[in-house]
Amino acid sequence: MSDPIRSVTMPSLFLSHGAPTLALEDSATGRWLDGLGAALPRPRAVLVASAHALAGVPHLGAGARPATLHDFAGFPTALDALRYPAPGAPDLVPQAAELLGAAGFEATRDAAMPFDHGIWVPLMRMYPAADLPVLALSISPRRDASWHYALGQALAPLRDAGVLIVGSGGFVHNLGALQWHEHDAPPAPWAQAFARWLTARVREGDTGAAQDWSARAPHASRAHPTPEHLLPLFVAWGAAGGSGTPLHEAWEYGSLAMHAFRFGTRA
Ligand code: ZN
Repeated sequence: MSDPIRSVTMPSLFLSHGAPTLALEDSATGRWLDGLGAALPRPRAVLVASAHALAGVPHLGAGARPATLHDFAGFPTALDALRYPAPGAPDLVPQAAELLGAAGFEATRDAAMPFDHGIWVPLMRMYPAADLPVLALSISPRRDASWHYALGQALAPLRDAGVLIVGSGGFVHNLGALQWHEHDAPPAPWAQAFARWLTARVREGDTGAAQDWSARAPHASRAHPTPEHLLPLFVAWGAAGGSGTPLHEAWEYGSLAMHAFRFGTRA
């Protein structure tokens, strides 16, 4: 008997995960994430390409019970007690590895790969029951946006198998520029200019200009002194292609963009 849930083609998403306090705080982004899971068709599994899983070649989390990694410091200790006990998705790994291999990516299966906070923080808000299998995927900060777009393209068939592909990063992410004392500080003009430029490219589906963001976007090096929080956007975008739809816009600490986008099928 066919399972109608698994026949739904899922969108792909880019989510900004902000600071790990997002897991607990009552904020605009937290409240928005609380409703996001229920607003989407229920996926068979969630694949997350995280800004905090960095490797030279794609690593696929192959463990059945991944650990919750508290890969941050200087935040309230209440966060250290949090666990996200979702199962891994080892049954999806062979298909994902095969798709990546067919596109020229040599993937590594990593049975010890944990859920870093780029994975578990947003998922704890979206899917608090932790009952969906989660497949972790690394990104490669030495590779450019087009490489990550191709990585997403390679994984696109998983969407037809009911897998929700998520890129988890940050739309503007410069930790040195944040006003940590003021959660709701108004956004800096340079941060807004970068976000407006890239949002326009996403809406237009102008992947060529967007992939050249570091040369073309205003204040690119200030918005992203290092690229790892933006690269998951291109994994999500490549997984669906076309144009993207802004789902959420918010700012924290004066320049931390919490923006989110949906690609592919409407949900
Ligand atoms: Zn992060």
